[in-house]
Amino acid sequence: MAHKTVYLALGSNLGDRRFNLRRACEALEDARVHIVKRSSIYETEPRDVTAQPWFLNMALACETPYFPLQLLAISQRIERDLGRIRGASSVPRGPRTLDIDILLFQNIVMDTPRLTIPHPRMLDRRFVLEPLSEIAPHLRHPQTKDLLAKYLSRVAGQKLRRIEL
Ligand code: ATP
Ligand code: CA
Ligand code: CA
Repeated sequence: MAHKTVYLALGSNLGDRRFNLRRACEALEDARVHIVKRSSIYETEPRDVTAQPWFLNMALACETPYFPLQLLAISQRIERDLGRIRGASSVPRGPRTLDIDILLFQNIVMDTPRLTIPHPRMLDRRFVLEPLSEIAPHLRHPQTKDLLAKYLSRVAGQKLRRIEL
């Protein structure tokens, strides 16, 4: 089956954050989500729930035979395997060992209860746009058709630092 190009955002702010990101990349490869390009790791200020540790974030360009909901299921299984706890005891947008968000999937636009693509909040987040622009500087948003650089300039106030790999 033809492979599709997808962009993922990874984040971790609990436990050994570097280890969690590295394990996530290995688990994606093992699950036939082949990493074509990976960004540097960025240490980023938490948003929404601000009283929590800073995150490590990165972006990946991948090729996979899966369809969007299959990729979501794989991502959530990897989050669980790396110790992510969901449910009543966890704070929404709070600390987590691993978060995998699907940013872009080919040029698909979909909005369902379980999955919205492009990721609806990606354009407001420097911790997403900065690593994504590093690996795909000429990418355009499939709905607005604008270059990511346009959005990046709007979120320049959000704090982060790039960590060399
Ligand atoms: P945010 O979505 O604002 O980054 P979050 O990553 O903390 O917040 P989660 O608790 O990880 O949110 O995910 C909540 C639900 O979002 C998931 O169970 C999933 O069904 C849904 N979801 C919708 N669109 C996407 C997407 N593009 N990528 C990943 N999950 C998505
Ligand atoms: Ca997220
Ligand atoms: Ca998520």
